[in-house]
Amino acid sequence: MKEVHYDVVVCGAGVAGVAAAVAAARRGAKTVLIEKQCLLGGLATSGLIYIYLPLCDGYGKQITFGLSEEMLKRCVEYGPFEVPARWGGPEGGNPGIAGTRYQCCFSPAGFTLTLDKMLAEAGVDLWLDTQIVNASAENDRITSVDAANLSGLTRILGKCFVDATGCALAAKLAGAEVLSEANFNTPWMMEMASDPSFFHFTDSLHIQDFGKHTKEFAVEPPYDGRKVTEFVRRGWQMMRARYDKLSREERVKNYPVHLPAMPQIRKIARIDACYTITESDVGKHFEHVIGTAANWYHPDAGWEAPYESLIPRKLDGLLAAGRCMGAEGYAWEIFRVIPAAAMTGEAAGIAASICAERGLLPRALPYEDLKKELHALVPDAR
Ligand SMILES: Cc1cc2nc3c(=O)[nH]c(=O)nc-3n(C[C@H](O)[C@H](O)[C@H](O)COP(=O)(O)OP(=O)(O)OC[C@H]3O[C@@H](n4cnc5c(N)ncnc54)[C@H](O)[C@@H]3O)c2cc1C
Repeated sequence: MKEVHYDVVVCGAGVAGVAAAVAAARRGAKTVLIEKQCLLGGLATSGLIYIYLPLCDGYGKQITFGLSEEMLKRCVEYGPFEVPARWGGPEGGNPGIAGTRYQCCFSPAGFTLTLDKMLAEAGVDLWLDTQIVNASAENDRITSVDAANLSGLTRILGKCFVDATGCALAAKLAGAEVLSEANFNTPWMMEMASDPSFFHFTDSLHIQDFGKHTKEFAVEPPYDGRKVTEFVRRGWQMMRARYDKLSREERVKNYPVHLPAMPQIRKIARIDACYTITESDVGKHFEHVIGTAANWYHPDAGWEAPYESLIPRKLDGLLAAGRCMGAEGYAWEIFRVIPAAAMTGEAAGIAASICAERGLLPRALPYEDLKKELHALVPDAR
């Protein structure tokens, strides 16, 4: 099999993976980003999400910084929405349904175009339409991933890896334990309709929500290939049920435009981390903080992430970022969304590039050395 070598190998180009790759490449690491789709942004774009959730605590104070803020400001570039005026957007701009918190709406397709620009500016080597199908480990240290695309199979060796697959797949393929939780099926689609009922782009183009948060729509782990197929097809069934009730005349005005290209499962799998953030960690200060996430449900003191929440307990050479990091229950709800994915991705990318540069394993990287490079994420880091 053909072999290629990089300093940092980032698996998955969702928001977390893009942030990790940009952060690592900006530090000068030779960085590859591998993505199975031909879109960037993962669930945030191909899942037809369109709210960049808040960077503030809900009481008027910004608590998430760094690339997460940069992405929020740039995600509106190719779309009709603006950052709310009180957070730096233009007076009279259109914040969509974002309201007064430091959040905004975006066009999913437009966000992909922006993320691509960020990767190109940083000099990341991007491999689209390339699926990671295997990983190798020696003495519990990941050494390579195997990627399949039209060229065939390539072995990608790295000094340090970031798992940003949204489902801890790289860690799992390398032999690490992964954990999961129940989810509700709430599929969305982009719809053309005369009576917009959910998130508006224009008077007729909007996102339509089909699911219900009830036991009937709950899916229990473990998630396997079969269950994902069932989950997605159940969503399509709910969608058809809406249109099946309409007459042919009504269907001319009410019809699907675009479906999510990724399973809209909120919490598929996460690493078994050295530290798992839990509900009781709200407002807690960690000695090894890498950034803070905001509660997007309601105002609170904020959620710090310790460096150890990115490190698998039983696998070396890899950091997890985004929704497959170590957080459970309500805390996973806080950390699985876009701004937290960007924040943990950036921290993982910085840590991975330092480890690659110095020949260190992530768990052996002294926090004091990492902290010096976290100024953008943790403003009071010295
Ligand atoms: C219904 C629903 C509504 C939501 N609403 C919001 C919202 O309004 N605002 C918000 O901020 N968040 C929302 N979220 C959550 C949020 O969009 C995601 O959780 C977040 O974007 C996750 O980012 P990530 O980078 O961690 O993972 P992902 O987006 O899952 O990215 C992982 C990437 O890895 C790729 N990948 C996976 N396996 C492989 C492989 N084997 N080889 C190569 N590539 C691979 C995937 O294709 C994907 O691009 C919502 C989620 C759902 C399901």
